[in-house]
Amino acid sequence: MNVKVADLKFEPLIEEDTIKQRIAVLGEQISKEYEGKLPVFLGVLNGSFLFIADLVREVTTPCEVTFTKLASYFGGTVSSLTVRSDIELSIDISNRDVIIVEDIIDSGNTLAYLIERLKVFNPASLKVCTLLSKTDAIEIHMPELTYIGFEIANEFVVGYGLDYKEQGRNLKSIYRMVGE
Ligand code: 5GP
Ligand code: MG
Ligand code: MG
Repeated sequence: MNVKVADLKFEPLIEEDTIKQRIAVLGEQISKEYEGKLPVFLGVLNGSFLFIADLVREVTTPCEVTFTKLASYFGGTVSSLTVRSDIELSIDISNRDVIIVEDIIDSGNTLAYLIERLKVFNPASLKVCTLLSKTDAIEIHMPELTYIGFEIANEFVVGYGLDYKEQGRNLKSIYRMVGE
């Protein structure tokens, strides 16, 4: 069923069940690869709040969960190059196995900025787990990008944490914008 978020219309793209099943697979894969380690999941607010909550519940190894906040879009549907950091890290990540948890990678600028900032602290390892990737739109090569939930076309999506004008984050499925 189509939904209206603020002044735009959206149609279903990825159903709730499909998201759930994919996250279970990612959680299992991460659990195997980090066995015997104590990874830190670093959620990038606000968009990843539901994804990280569901992901860490599929992880069976001991882990820590923390957050940072970045912003590159200010309310619209087109990525801006300005990245702003709003929350400083609350734990020491030096010598830690860090997994950045993102909602979506578009140009990759936001993530590239975060990766550079985190590398300064010398983590033991640094990987990225993103729910969605607009693979054709990525402008920067990131070897840290290891776990991808779904590759999607270069279109604007909302739901399951992702917003349009701060709305739509509470939708259980992921929707794409309909026409112009
Ligand atoms: P990038 O820096 O990779 O171009 O943009 C990344 C950030 O822009 C994401 O973390 C997300 O907050 C926002 N973003 C990119 N594409 C979309 C989209 O299709 N929908 C929504 N709601 N946000 C997006
Ligand atoms: Mg994000
Ligand atoms: Mg946003």
